[in-house]
Amino acid sequence: MFRRRVAALAVLAGLVQPPQQHVVLVIIDGARYSETLGDSAGLYSPRMHALAASGAVVDTFLNDSLTYTERAIPAIWSGTWTAPADTTIGGVATQYTRVPTLWEYFRKDRGADSTGALYELKNLTAPWLPSFHPQYGPAYWPWYDMHQWSDPYVWRDARLRLAAFHPALTVLYLADVDHDGHSGVWADYTHAIAVADSIVGALWDFVQADPVFRNSTTILVTNDHGRHLNGTGTGFAGHGDACWGCRRIELLAAGRGVRHTTSPVRRRIPDIVPTIGALLGYTSPFSTGQAMTEILQPILFLSRDSLQFGTSPIGVTRSDSVVVYNAGGTALTLQCIPGTGTTVDPPTAVVLPHDSLIVRVSLTLTHPGPFATSVGLSHNDGLGVASIPVTGIAGDSIVVQVPVTGGWNLVSLPADVANSSPAGVFPGALSGLFGFHPDSGYVHAEELLPGRAYWLKLPGTGAVPVAGTCRTGDTVVVTAGWNMVGAPSFPVAASDVVRIPGGMILSPFHRYRMGYAQADTLSPGAGYWVKSDMTGSLVLQASPP
Ligand SMILES: [Zn+2]
Ligand SMILES: [Zn+2]
Repeated sequence: MFRRRVAALAVLAGLVQPPQQHVVLVIIDGARYSETLGDSAGLYSPRMHALAASGAVVDTFLNDSLTYTERAIPAIWSGTWTAPADTTIGGVATQYTRVPTLWEYFRKDRGADSTGALYELKNLTAPWLPSFHPQYGPAYWPWYDMHQWSDPYVWRDARLRLAAFHPALTVLYLADVDHDGHSGVWADYTHAIAVADSIVGALWDFVQADPVFRNSTTILVTNDHGRHLNGTGTGFAGHGDACWGCRRIELLAAGRGVRHTTSPVRRRIPDIVPTIGALLGYTSPFSTGQAMTEILQPILFLSRDSLQFGTSPIGVTRSDSVVVYNAGGTALTLQCIPGTGTTVDPPTAVVLPHDSLIVRVSLTLTHPGPFATSVGLSHNDGLGVASIPVTGIAGDSIVVQVPVTGGWNLVSLPADVANSSPAGVFPGALSGLFGFHPDSGYVHAEELLPGRAYWLKLPGTGAVPVAGTCRTGDTVVVTAGWNMVGAPSFPVAASDVVRIPGGMILSPFHRYRMGYAQADTLSPGAGYWVKSDMTGSLVLQASPP
């Protein structure tokens, strides 16, 4: 369902889908917790200890039912302790699960072919099988790859398959620890753990070095059961009862989408299938477990890493969008932080796992020339704040909204226009145009000139849009005495007005709007009185944005 929705959004926005996430589940058969993560010295498992230090560990993870292989392995696959059914392959007795397995859930829900779901294990004449469930079954079974006899060679094959096919879901089954444990030779048992640990380390190194897997892969390590506590039954040589040594096993997770945490929540074997489902986006309706969301975090993916608006007119708002995907197993909370000149919608959002959201960014350019800002996305995926650079170039066309009142107004030319007659700039003008010169007083004018101001009688109160080509600055000649001046297309701070010569003494600027008032800023379209003590020039340059 959600795949269709993401695809529809992607088409809508003309954008790409998020990268495929990957999971590799390593099952180390029959390693006792006291020789793996339960050994604080990490004597036999230095690589798993190192991964635990940067990833997630469930402190109390249990085989909560039957502590022997032929029941616990199917329970890991299917997320339930439902008993498997007996069958034969080529006359050899074996079993199949009665409920669907993680590979079936994944392949059916995500439409993956068999190369997307791998089961890597040693050579078996009659391996245990996934389900024949009517809604899932053989059409969704994994690719069984089983040619080797010991863990290092199983890993060698797995590495080749991973490199060639990059399956999204891989289960790597390492059998030697249990076999060597049953031998009763401590050195053989612990050596097998050290080999399995080195394989986990090699897997991690391989993933980090692979451009497809890097930053898109979660590795989980667990066991089907532990072994008897020392002094219980045959000690490490056996397993199968309810002693704490048989019950307590490891659950280690590392890589993308995993928090750095030690979970205090007591978890159990059936929780593995829903947890991988949260990472890969499948549902597991027949599992009795619950996803271990406390060890997961969202994965933010943006459809674009920048927004380029190109050339836009000044004062016109343009919009574009970025699709935010959550490729992780828990909800993504998002806060959008607009940059200068931008607005972002929505300002905050929650994106559910494997869902997406369109974030709309609007940009209004207020000054000519190139413009750059960024939109920030504050989120909880563990990688801090994402930043989307936003660029645009303001063209030289502009629409200035000039506020006017009914009656006499002191106005100026806010943009260069084709027709600069009073009626061309201010349609409906009720009078002629009157400029002022200190020597000759009020003078009738035919058109508005840049930098000068005029009296003009207008019919009503409101904003008059004046469309034209923008001017960023004007140089206005002034004479000793009172002068009427206007601003360019952008506001100019009175304190930024440059006097030529520099010794010129100026009065404050005064605007008129039903009475005179001192003005700190000269606004486009308005006119201002200013008194000079000499003849010279004023340079009115738009203040920086
Ligand atoms: Zn086992
Ligand atoms: Zn036991």
